[in-house]
Amino acid sequence: MKLDSRQLRYLTAEDWRVLTAVEMGSKNHELVPTVLIAQIAGLRGGSGVHKSIATLAKSGLIAKIKNAKYDGYRLTYGGLDYLSLNTLRKQDTVFSLGNQIGVGKESDIYVVADPTGKQLVLKLHRLGRISFRTVKANRDYLRNRTTGSWMYLSRLAAMKEYAFMHVLKREGFPVPEPIAQTRHTLVMELIDSFPLRSIDNVSDPLTLYGDLMDLIVRLAKVGLIHGDFNEFNLLIKEDPVTKKSTPILIDFPQMLSTTHENAKWYFDRDVNCIKRFFSRQFKFTSDEPGPFFEDAIKDADKNKRLDIEVEATGFSRKMAKDLDRFVEAVGFQNEADEDTAEVLDGQDGNEVDQDDSEEEEEEEEETGSQDAQEDNVEEELAEQTHTD
Ligand code: ADP
Ligand code: MG
Repeated sequence: MKLDSRQLRYLTAEDWRVLTAVEMGSKNHELVPTVLIAQIAGLRGGSGVHKSIATLAKSGLIAKIKNAKYDGYRLTYGGLDYLSLNTLRKQDTVFSLGNQIGVGKESDIYVVADPTGKQLVLKLHRLGRISFRTVKANRDYLRNRTTGSWMYLSRLAAMKEYAFMHVLKREGFPVPEPIAQTRHTLVMELIDSFPLRSIDNVSDPLTLYGDLMDLIVRLAKVGLIHGDFNEFNLLIKEDPVTKKSTPILIDFPQMLSTTHENAKWYFDRDVNCIKRFFSRQFKFTSDEPGPFFEDAIKDADKNKRLDIEVEATGFSRKMAKDLDRFVEAVGFQNEADEDTAEVLDGQDGNEVDQDDSEEEEEEEEETGSQDAQEDNVEEELAEQTHTD
């Protein structure tokens, strides 16, 4: 699903009120009754609400559910994207939307600009998009989810990622600076460099390897395991003069505590991912064994436990549990495990949420020519006048 911001500037203040009403109604209703939408929007009686509903439905920001028992609408990911962009615009965090630079497993990444023209990264979490295809176990847990519950999990992923980036940055870890978070999205510093994956040689693999292992160990010392520490989630900055490579770590929704029951397994997997990659890509194998989980936590800093700190903030224990259940259901799949990603591809893909997949097909048809136009459009978000 693409983020097509072209409609943003055409929505009226009333359209925004109605879209916001559908979002509010979604808290208690999978399908928000049309009468309730009108009531929450405070637009009862007039034809305005129906006009807005028609506009929003035509733009794919809200949708009907097939075979529904009453007249109503649900919010789509497109609608949620628009609400987020509008919030970010009102906060003066994001002024314009640029090109998409990444399509992750479960996220879309865009370059955006703030009002001063500074480039930033917008990450939109899209849980449920792919995972269900790749899962062997727990399919019922995933299949029976509604769009709303995927949106809830996507919001948790964004909140968790933001919370961890915040404490990691504060503690001097090499991560992008987190700037804002709303709903299923977060805005962060743009790291202008390439992922390790796309780098064919480094001037000094031994030093880079050592720095990466140090990073894994330093994280463990403050109570954390990244859980997806691999060549896709490490961006490498090269100093133009000294040629020294500095890694920046990204992508934190699956981060876990060193007290997790399988912590050692995840720690070892992070370590082995890097070993495997260095041997394949740079033909480099370290003479030193380890690092080992037991050593890393033995001299951990007892007063600095970031896993505990994050749990005590807005990202509550209940939220952590909900997200963990999801992560466990998809088997804590690692991006570098390409083989597992194909296991069920194409078999189950459409079963999880019929409505959404159908709606996406329709969207594709409507916006067939979009790619060509989208390449370089800088949509100004500022023209919109959402007044709430
Ligand atoms: P996913 O969870 O989908 O893997 P990531 O956070 O890893 O999402 O982002 C996907 C890709 O987008 C990354 O591999 C990287 O190329 C790019 N990317 C993400 N965040 C940034 C950033 N802050 N600066 C530059 N590129 C980024
Ligand atoms: Mg990633």
